[in-house]
Parts: sequence; C-alpha cells; structure tokens
Amino acid sequence: MKILVINSGSSSLKYQMFDMAREQLMAKGEVQRVGISGSEPATLTQQVPGRDPYKIAADIPDHKIALKLAIATLTDPDQGVLAELSEIGAVGHRVVHGGEAFTHSARIDDRVVRAIQECAGLAPLHNPPNLSGIEACEQIMPDVPQVAVFDTAFHSTLPRHAYLYAIPYEWYEKFRARRYGFHGTSHAYVSQRAAALMGEGDLKIVTCHLGNGSSVAAVDGGRSMDTSMGLTPVEGLVMGTRCGDLDPALVVFLTRWLNADIDQIDQWLNKKSGLLGLSGVGSDMRDILQAASEGCERAEIALEVFCYRVRKYIGAYAAAMGGLDAVVFTAGIGEHSPPVRARACEGLGFLGVAIDPKKNSAGRGERDISAEGARVRTFVVPTNEELVIARETLAIVES
Ligand code: ADP
Repeated sequence: MKILVINSGSSSLKYQMFDMAREQLMAKGEVQRVGISGSEPATLTQQVPGRDPYKIAADIPDHKIALKLAIATLTDPDQGVLAELSEIGAVGHRVVHGGEAFTHSARIDDRVVRAIQECAGLAPLHNPPNLSGIEACEQIMPDVPQVAVFDTAFHSTLPRHAYLYAIPYEWYEKFRARRYGFHGTSHAYVSQRAAALMGEGDLKIVTCHLGNGSSVAAVDGGRSMDTSMGLTPVEGLVMGTRCGDLDPALVVFLTRWLNADIDQIDQWLNKKSGLLGLSGVGSDMRDILQAASEGCERAEIALEVFCYRVRKYIGAYAAAMGGLDAVVFTAGIGEHSPPVRARACEGLGFLGVAIDPKKNSAGRGERDISAEGARVRTFVVPTNEELVIARETLAIVES
C-alpha cells in the first residue's frame, strides 16, 4: 500500500509518500509560507531520491490549496511518483496533542475529529493546523482512510507519580492539568532501534531527542515511564527558544518586575528564552558552537547549561528506572553534534556510560559510539517519525 504522511503546521505542510511494500520513501516535500501574505511567495519543494530537488513558487492561501499543490506535484508526469491520486491507499497525520483521550493512533472519523478539537485548548498552536490538514484531505480524498498518530500517545504509559504535578488535585480533575510529554513517535522509534541493535527487548533506555525542541524519555521494556516535556512542550530541557524547567514563581516575579501581561511572558518563555536567550547569539546550535569556539562567553554559557541539563536528566531517569542499559541520541543536535554528546555524557562514568571519542566524532547515521567495555551502550540513531506514522497508519487500516 502507498501511504501519504502529512505534518501540517501553522504556516507549512510537510509530506512524505511511502511505498509500504518495502517501506521505501518515494518522495518528500514541504509547502512553506501557507497563508502568509507578503513580499515573498509561498513555495513547494519536493525531493525524490535520485533526482534533483524541484521547487515552485505559488499563491497558497490555505492548507487545502497547499495539499492540492502537493498532490498535483506527486502526480505530475515529470516531477511526480504516482500515476494517479487513487494510488494513495491511506493518509497518516501527525497530531501533536491527544490529551488523555488517545493512548494509541486512531482512524479518523467525526468522533475523533471532535476529540482532537477538544484537545486544542492544550495545544493551541499545533492542533488547529493539524486539523486543517485533516480537513483538506477529507475534502480532496473523501474515500481514502485517514489515521491520526499522536505525539503524546507513546507517553500514555507514564505512571501517575510521573505525570501528576503537585498542585491541587481538582485542577487535574477539572482541567486535566498534568504532564503529557511530546516527541512520542521519535522516542518510540529510536528506543526500538536501540533494542534491535542490542538484540534484546527488556532494556532500560534513556532517549535524548535534541533538536530545536528537545526532550528526554525513560523507556523501560519499551514503555515510556517518564519524559521531560509536560503539559506543554515548554518544560524540561533547554531548547532553541524555549526555557525548559523553571521555578514557576519566576512568572509571578516577572509580571511585577516588568509590569508585563501573561501573553508577553508566554511569548518570552516560548520564543525568547533557551539557547537564544542565554547566548544572545541565536537559537541554532551550530551558531552557538561556532561562537563558543571563537571565545563568545555567553555562547559557552548556553552550551554549558544545555549539556548539563541533558546530563542531569540522564542521571535522573537512570534512578527513575532503577538502572540503565543504553543512552540514545537523536534529532538535529543529538544526531549531528559530537561535542554536545560528549559534554552531555561527561561524568556519567559512575553509571557505566562512556563514549569513544573517535567513534563519537567519526561516521554518520545509526551507530554505536560506546567506549570498549562500557557497561551502558550509547547510540546515535537518526529518528524517522514519518516512517512510524506510515507504519501505524498501515497497521490501523489493515486491522
Ligand atoms: P526540529 O525540532 O525543528 O525538528 P531538528 O531536529 O531539525 O529540529 O534540529 C535542529 C537543531 O539541530 C538546530 O539547533 C541545529 O543547529 C542543530 N544541528 C543540525 N546540524 C547540526 C550540526 N552539524 N551540529 C550541531 N547542531 C546541528
């Protein structure tokens, strides 16, 4: 079966087309600047393995037009990979927040759409554009089955001592105020890869998804037992522009010190903090590493705080699981930055974590970077969230 995977964001629509007979990626593309008017036009970029990238500019006012253009490109006689639209057997959608309603992926019907809408209050920036992608598909391909795959679902196994905040219990009952966790498809995929590489299933693994958004998960025997993001993706690690863990009382002080309203503070904690706020250089780890190597003190501080926080979570999650068999690094920074991996693992020798400097800095893709004889194995595993979504979609459609 051929499956289209859609990741619909506020101003973008990313897609990947898979042939599931061999789990082969046929094409991937991205429509950018959806619904943004201005001097620059919206664009669609598509890549097909073995061909030159294809890029066009167009007027794209909404997600329906974006999807129409993506489908026209996928079925284009020169640029496409499909003879006709009817070759698409199912569509899998990334949906960020499934709340407590969704512990697994779900075939989309009216009831599921309503439940995703109900979760939108918890993810106002993410769930509405995810729903726009679903609506666009329903209009353009009404007979093709659609499946929602939730970022939160993998973490639905968190025990209550990990997901409850120590706030009045009624707030949990009334507002479902609790920790949910995100990046679930990524943590699921890379922990499964690590288990496959070790040839065992019953393992205690800490997965570190370090990208623009970052999170850590404690995965015990394939089940998520704790994770660093919470009610929203702001909690936990230092991120590109998000602060991560914070004393909540700081918000109270900021409103007084700066005479700021809550929307401004929300904006600062989400968009002006993290690597950007600490360094003043930018939110991109490559820029931070470059500036730090040129002697920029604040870039060095940002790097130090970032790596320290990853290290602290690895130690905390080893304690939470009562042991540790493997650490996995993934996403933009986790996959591509040897210095960050090295600094995040510094001092963890007492747990049995030791990485080989040569293996850490050489090579590409999926690999074991542990030092000879290390009790805990350390892996780099490129994540593949789209493949997980395609697999889940296939499993649901076939059942
Ligand atoms: P997103 O959360 O947007 O999916 P990614 O997983 O693509 O993010 O990760 C983006 C981050 O990865 C950026 O901070 C970028 O600087 C970092 N990154 C990408 N390549 C490298 C590299 N070679 N060295 C260090 N950081 C890198």
